Order: sequence, then structure tokens, then C-alpha cells
Amino acid sequence: MDNQALLSWYRGVARALPWRAKPPNPYGILLSEIMAQQTRIETMLPYWERFMARWPRVEDLAAAEGEAVLGEWAGLGYYSRARNLHKAAKVVAELGRFPDTVEDLRALPGVGPYTAGAIASIAFDRDAALVDGNVERVLCRFHRIEEDPRTPKVKRRLWALAESHIPKGEAGDHNQALMELGATLCTPKNPRCDVCPLKSGCSGQQIAASLPNKPRKQKAPEVRAACLVLEREGSILLCRRPESGLLGGLWELPAVDLDPADKASETSLVVLGLKERLGLDVQLERRLGQVRHIFTHRKLTQSVWAGQGSGELTLRFYEAAAWFDPADLGELPLSKLARKTLAVHASPDEQLSLI
Ligand code: SF4
Repeated sequence: MDNQALLSWYRGVARALPWRAKPPNPYGILLSEIMAQQTRIETMLPYWERFMARWPRVEDLAAAEGEAVLGEWAGLGYYSRARNLHKAAKVVAELGRFPDTVEDLRALPGVGPYTAGAIASIAFDRDAALVDGNVERVLCRFHRIEEDPRTPKVKRRLWALAESHIPKGEAGDHNQALMELGATLCTPKNPRCDVCPLKSGCSGQQIAASLPNKPRKQKAPEVRAACLVLEREGSILLCRRPESGLLGGLWELPAVDLDPADKASETSLVVLGLKERLGLDVQLERRLGQVRHIFTHRKLTQSVWAGQGSGELTLRFYEAAAWFDPADLGELPLSKLARKTLAVHASPDEQLSLI
């Protein structure tokens, strides 16, 4: 691989992102790497800036309330990243120094081989490799690897190849250059081989668009759920989901999953489900609308109901419940899905969709 060509191309095109400032700030890099997982740079950049303004040092983040961290993260999705980031900040603050080897970084919550390689090479100049989706694509094409890169054997090969390409003392820029190349030239569709700095040694150019060879996954199943707006003197009941699992620790309107195999009506499933989760006897009054939400592995349609509840609130699924003024939710950590259902409550009969 022509590293000189790759590096000089990268140094010419690299965007001046704040976490790339010199000298490197390991905390800012950790934050950027965790936020950039599954998320576009344009989307996560304002979140990164807000986190850095509010918690400028890792010790500040470590001392923050969990709910405040989730609240600041709200809208970025994949909330386990926020919880792990917070835990990792606490570990670093307790250690009193930032871990600086791949091995020590991997001991941090939520830090896998990719993130450890990124921080070790970019923040600490270690000769560490990394393979993310962009690097995987570049390497599969460059080496014309036609097998499925998700198999353990090919994964091991890709990591070994990534390590073999690291130029001593320049791993940080090399890794960022490969990722940038994958993001801008060696793209999934229409790779720009004509202007690529690696074209002279690239074996897979002729079949680039067909690599990496990843057989299509099964379509995400359609699932249904329903939630309820219970009002009391202008306030609505919100509940906090269990820490572990989907949307863990976030607040939402009390909701139930609807079993597609159960042929009972939606209203009776909602009444039964909420009795189970909240201990309340619920009377549904009106269906306000519905929202769509696409998770990684499923597509959800959620109805929003208005109704009344009686009996004693007994939490059997949620970890907390409280009454809130809908105009004053402040920093309460709410998922995008919850925000959409609340928007239906504010403007009933709208069909809202959310990707
Ligand atoms: S030459 Fe084409 S296929 Fe090869 S690395 Fe460059 S953009 Fe990708």
C-alpha cells in the first residue's frame, strides 16, 4: 500500500474537526469515537460540542448525574453508548490518568478493539491498527477479498492486514486516512478509483462495487406497540425504562408491546398490558394517532392513546414513574420515539414517522 500517497492525500483533504486539534485530547477523541459509532459526523458534531462545553474534562463527565448525560445524549440513539461512556469516564477519573495502550483502553466499558485502536493511535501515537466499516471496505477491495468479511476467519485476516499496513510512528494519520478514504472515495456505491491515492496497488478495482461481499440480511420485522397518555391536572404520567435493554434508562409514555400472534383487539391488549406493567385499571378513550420508528433490527408502529387510570400505581416493568408538565420536560432523557409520541399528544391525528 502506498502510504505516502495515502497520507499526503489525507493531509490535503482532512476536515478540521475539533477533536483532531493538536495536541490531541484523549477525552475528546474518546467522546468523538463513541458518538461516531453508527452515526454520521454531521449529526454527532453538535452533540460533541455540547458535551465538551458542559463537561470539558473527563473528571467533569465522571461527576455528572446519569440522567443529565442521557438527557444531553437524547436524539443520538443507541443509548448504551451514553451509559458506557459515563462509566468509562468514571473509571478514567478514578485511575487518575488516561489509559494509553490498546490493552488498557479495552478494559474501559464500551471500548472495543476499534475504539481502543483509534484512541491509542490518534491520541497516544501508538502503532495500533483499527478496522471499522470504512476500513473493512477499503481493505476488501484493495486486497480483492471476495469472502464475507463478517466471518471470524476474514475478520482476523482484515485485522492482520490493517496491522501490516501501519507505517511506524504515523498510525494515527494512517488510520484516519483509511477511514476518510472509505467515507469519501471508496464509498459503497460508485467508488472514485480514478482519483484514489491507492489505485496503483488496488487489486479489486475492477469489481470494487461488488465488494465487500455481504449477503443481504433478512428484512427487519414489523412490530407494533401502544402507549397511553394519562393526564392529571395538566400533568402527564411518564415512566423510566429499565437500565438494561432497549432504550434503557430513558423516560417515555407508559407503553406495551403488542403480540402479533394474539388475536385479541388492540384495546384489550393495551388494557391488559398496562395492568401488568403499572397495576392500573385503564379505560382507553381515544386513539390520538401513531408513530413509526425504525430500530436497527425492527420497524415499529406505535399507537398513542388517551385514557383514564384508576387503582394504585405498582411498577412491575418500569423503574420509576412521575407526573410531568408536558411543557416543562427540561433535561429529562427522552428517546426520539418518546418525543414523537408526545408530539402526537400535542397535535393529535397526525401520522408521524421517524427514522
Ligand atoms: S482504487 Fe477504488 S476500490 Fe481501490 S481503494 Fe481506491 S477507491 Fe477503493
